[in-house]
Amino acid sequence: MQVIDTLAEVTRHQDRDLIERSLVKTLAEIVDCLELRLYRIVRMPPEIELLLVDQVTPRQKVIAALDGCERPVPDRLCASIIEALESGEIVTNLEAQPCVIYPIEDNQGGIQAVLVQFVVRVSFDDQRMTHGLLRIYANYLALIDESQRDKLTSLLNRETLDDTIARLMTHRHIHGREKPNKRRQDANSHWLGLLDIDHFKRINDSCGHLFGDEVLILVANLMRDTLREEDLIFRFGGEEFVVIIDTPSQQLAWMVFERLRKTIENHPFPQIGRVTASIGIVEIANQAGPAMVIGNADKALYHAKNTGRNRVEVYEELVAQGECQGSDTPRTGTIDLF
Ligand code: GH3
Ligand code: MG
Ligand code: MG
Repeated sequence: MQVIDTLAEVTRHQDRDLIERSLVKTLAEIVDCLELRLYRIVRMPPEIELLLVDQVTPRQKVIAALDGCERPVPDRLCASIIEALESGEIVTNLEAQPCVIYPIEDNQGGIQAVLVQFVVRVSFDDQRMTHGLLRIYANYLALIDESQRDKLTSLLNRETLDDTIARLMTHRHIHGREKPNKRRQDANSHWLGLLDIDHFKRINDSCGHLFGDEVLILVANLMRDTLREEDLIFRFGGEEFVVIIDTPSQQLAWMVFERLRKTIENHPFPQIGRVTASIGIVEIANQAGPAMVIGNADKALYHAKNTGRNRVEVYEELVAQGECQGSDTPRTGTIDLF
């Protein structure tokens, strides 16, 4: 019965962070262990990088409040984790503090996370139970991932965009409170770019809808190849895309989007030749909410379209130059950090 409750609890959520926390918390209740840790794999060996996403010590009833920061993994544990990642098998480490390491697969056959279970003694029944629950958990995550992706390009879909922007605004708020002395110019900030393919209708009209679709897939691939792994790319709708990057300054943000624009411009599209895109960018912080972020990026995009297309325009610069009207809504106290 407890297993059914565990499944019900874990599948109650649709947000990956909440699912992970709920999994670790409920596993700690049904399996006899001293401590459970869940690490996300940021980078695979040899340059292994792990992110501790949750840590529960059931006997002391202490749940670590994690802040998303990376912490060093003890050496003896690291060697066993690497073994689990390389073999894809459960690894048991019987040194000073016995532990069992479970690799968790993603939907492409890779490994997305590892669960580390510290125990007094290794129990085969507990291992089977944990392994089975982790497989269900991985399948559930895969289903959620699929529901958040656009069918044509496999990019994130529009439905996930508002939540992502809202979360980035909140994250910044928490971060700002934890480090009150951190000066604004030291902090990275998130920038959102709204990208719209120029004269896309002409491509559809002259080459057909299937060629149009092919261009959308190729542009999505160019974006994935040009941007970094941690950047977020969404298909906003039709021939419009949204990109969110984390970068220290407005100038660097502009450079990233300018590089993306040039990559698309210089790519030879089969049968079609040259395709260009216009991009409007805005800083996510200090806006009243997701709708305002997108609305202001759209104002910059509109300006790029009206001044010749195949350009990157920055909302903040346009406002400073009087080319674009600033937002009427005041900045909110909860988001204004520094
Ligand atoms: P602009 O430079 O001003 O952006 O011009 P545009 O032609 O790109 O913009 P417009 O909004 O006039 O046309 C967008 C076209 O995109 C119209 C629509 O038929 C097409 N479109 C939307 N979604 C899809 C899709 O999934 N596949 C294909 N092939 N075409 C699509
Ligand atoms: Mg459009
Ligand atoms: Mg267009």
